[in-house]
Amino acid sequence: MPVFYECQRCTACCKWPGQVRITDAEISRMAAHLGLVEHAFIQQYTRLRSNRQGLSIMDKPNGECIFLQGGDCLVQPVKPQQCRDFPNLWNFPGFEQTCRAKPKEVSVEEFRRRVSAATGRPEDSIPAQS
Ligand code: SF4
Ligand code: SF4
Repeated sequence: MPVFYECQRCTACCKWPGQVRITDAEISRMAAHLGLVEHAFIQQYTRLRSNRQGLSIMDKPNGECIFLQGGDCLVQPVKPQQCRDFPNLWNFPGFEQTCRAKPKEVSVEEFRRRVSAATGRPEDSIPAQS
């Protein structure tokens, strides 16, 4: 049976080193959410990806995502798809050692329903298991 991981909002995944890739549409939504014009948002909160093919969210000097503030995500309602998709649509070997998401065996239908709710993706685009 598929395993759905229910996020416990421990914020560990917001503290890992790595790039949070963002699209133009996500930049527009996050800028609007913060009351900024896109140019200002890009200047303040983004950096060039290491492959120079697009933008990612800036890190704080300690490696945390710049939007992690006091245990909350400043752009939670409009956070990037990459953040929404973890850990059910992408993860890496051993992620459970740090991520506190609770695993639960569910039916394929339930898996698709829950992942759709967590990621905002249509149910019919969700694979039968991760
Ligand atoms: S955008 Fe929000 S959810 Fe994504 S890494 Fe940053 S703080 Fe975490
Ligand atoms: S996905 Fe995992 S690591 Fe990220 S906030 Fe949720 S429980 Fe924590």
